[in-house]
Amino acid sequence: MAEIELRHIDKHFGAVHVIRDVNLTVKDREFVVFLGPSGCGKTTTLRAIAGLEEIDSGDILLDGKPIQNLHASDRDIAFVFQNYALYPHFTVYENLAFPLRAVGMRNEEVDKVVRSVGTSLGIAHLLKNRPSSLSGGDMQRVAIGRALVRRPKALLLDEPIGSLDAKLRETMRVELKRLHLENGSTSIYVTHDQVEAMSLADRIVVMNDGVLQQVGTPTDVYLYPANLFVAQFIGSPVMNVTPTVVREVSGEAQISLDSETFDLPRELLGMLQSKGAASELSLGVRPEGVIVSHEDQPGYRPVEAHIIQPFGGFDIVDLKVGNKTLRARTTSGFVEKAGDRVWARIDPAQAHFFDSKSGASLGIRLGN
Ligand code: ATP
Repeated sequence: MAEIELRHIDKHFGAVHVIRDVNLTVKDREFVVFLGPSGCGKTTTLRAIAGLEEIDSGDILLDGKPIQNLHASDRDIAFVFQNYALYPHFTVYENLAFPLRAVGMRNEEVDKVVRSVGTSLGIAHLLKNRPSSLSGGDMQRVAIGRALVRRPKALLLDEPIGSLDAKLRETMRVELKRLHLENGSTSIYVTHDQVEAMSLADRIVVMNDGVLQQVGTPTDVYLYPANLFVAQFIGSPVMNVTPTVVREVSGEAQISLDSETFDLPRELLGMLQSKGAASELSLGVRPEGVIVSHEDQPGYRPVEAHIIQPFGGFDIVDLKVGNKTLRARTTSGFVEKAGDRVWARIDPAQAHFFDSKSGASLGIRLGN
């Protein structure tokens, strides 16, 4: 059992307020990913949990017990660094054995644990090698193995695969997921890569400027972003966001997008009213929520394709709407060439509305 709780954590580096009143509970065996842009305070929060960084105020609890005053080595929390931090003169075997010998484990037992972790990480054949002869991926496997041998209560990983090439990162993502399923240790993983976060996390903690923006499952943060920051940080290509005005036209809802208008179901009017919608609204719609047709159909507007990016399995098509661009995801080759005239509508179920000033989502969900 290992539950980590952060209560009102605050931290400054001089005049810079790096962590602002962070509250979070990471459940036993959960895999939580801290995601946010560079400098938002992810690493500092992680290091504070490990005891590598002091906090100004707040409590850090492990299984209900405050640990913020304990030395890092007394917290039973293992840390994996991006730069591996292996002992260069030790073999892989000795790197893995080191934390076990440090706590006085007998040689026989050390050997058993090292070989078992080595096998589970696919580095059993490298035990006699020195780190300098290993690839980046294998070095990181050793670093993760060294963190796992002690069977820590919790495992903290700071961009552990950030310096690997794209292909290897993909392989390592799958391995990390498998390892977590096998070991089940409560894990917190820091990254600025949303793909990594989406694919690994049970829950994602989106951070910006030292503040938690949203905590939720990958599906939650993707489908129901709490604010404009989350909406635009998660998802690639980025969500279309544009100021809009909603009008009632013959009892139906019509939203403006530059000089063009799109129809949405009439319930939108009542929903906006009941949410006390601000006068300045932004519409958010992901590319897959922009539906493109070759024919003029009810509810569709004529638009012109001006850039087509083929991704193999699908295309991303930039559509000119007045002076604005609406980015749509279509099947591959659906729009033949730039300059083609097509028709588009906005899928109501994928339309998000935000208060333009505060950035907060109005939490409006429309049916199809
Ligand atoms: P990155 O992905 O770039 O590591 P991050 O989200 O992990 O970013 P942190 O490393 O936690 O962010 O840094 C948060 C802020 O604190 C940044 O402005 C950084 O410059 C500052 N900072 C971090 N460590 C120190 C330090 N030891 N002394 C002074 N400022 C620091």
